[in-house]
Amino acid sequence: MKTYETNYFFYYPVFKQMIWGGDRLATDFGYDIPGDNTGECWGISAHTSGDDSIANDCYAGMTLSQLWDEHPELFGNIEGDRFPLLIKIIDAKDNLSIQVHPYDEYAAKNENGSLGKTECWYIIDCPDDAKLVVGHNAKTHEELSDMIHEGRWDEFIRYVPIKKGDFIQIDPGTVHAITSGCMILETQQNSDITYRVYDYDRLQNGKPRQLHVEQSIDVIEAPFKPADIDTFTEEIPGAVHTHFVTCKFYSVDKYDIDGVFTLDAKKYYTNVSVIAGEGTVNGIPVKKG
Ligand code: ZN
Repeated sequence: MKTYETNYFFYYPVFKQMIWGGDRLATDFGYDIPGDNTGECWGISAHTSGDDSIANDCYAGMTLSQLWDEHPELFGNIEGDRFPLLIKIIDAKDNLSIQVHPYDEYAAKNENGSLGKTECWYIIDCPDDAKLVVGHNAKTHEELSDMIHEGRWDEFIRYVPIKKGDFIQIDPGTVHAITSGCMILETQQNSDITYRVYDYDRLQNGKPRQLHVEQSIDVIEAPFKPADIDTFTEEIPGAVHTHFVTCKFYSVDKYDIDGVFTLDAKKYYTNVSVIAGEGTVNGIPVKKG
């Protein structure tokens, strides 16, 4: 039986400025951000639009995509032509556009072989009475198309109330949007294919951002069905463990650690984000962010 050496990698995140971004990645997380409208910290990313550099000395100068290509043994030799996930912290000072992502098959066919995008959100922080956009209220595909073409957004958009610590799975074909004041840890497939349905008629540099109405109507599922998730919480030595979801692309867990805790990192590899507090990992100091 093969055993895998334990390795820890630390990354220099890539930051993305967005019209809806804020400054909390600096004020709450201590990052050196490029400006006051920084919307996203790509904390674990091997995407061509933001490939994180490795901070560990022994792999200095390499990016995560190179590490994946050149050292498959570090990832348990799991199959795949690219690092499959992208993990971000999102600071939404303003609302994000109402959007939808395609399935793998649709993206491969219509977006140059790109992956589709399943994603999920862990709510790090949000205002009291916050709501996110998840799903829509059209009963059929025809009604959906009418509501979008006629701009009946109040009827169309479905909101869910949220609080800190909630978790939401967004399958492809699900209309969704993060709303102002939310900080979210997002785990997603390594893709940036987004179809924008509605952008609140906002302007960027004097012009509206591009919408993708026909692609959106193609991929939005009607009627809306909430995603299946298998969440549970248990007390284990040194931590309270919450399992949020296991899906085809990832599983997501939270460990509220108090004391000494040992993670069973399973067969392949585990992506870890420290979202609160401080401590050490095998003697290496770590803190929020
Ligand atoms: Zn999305």
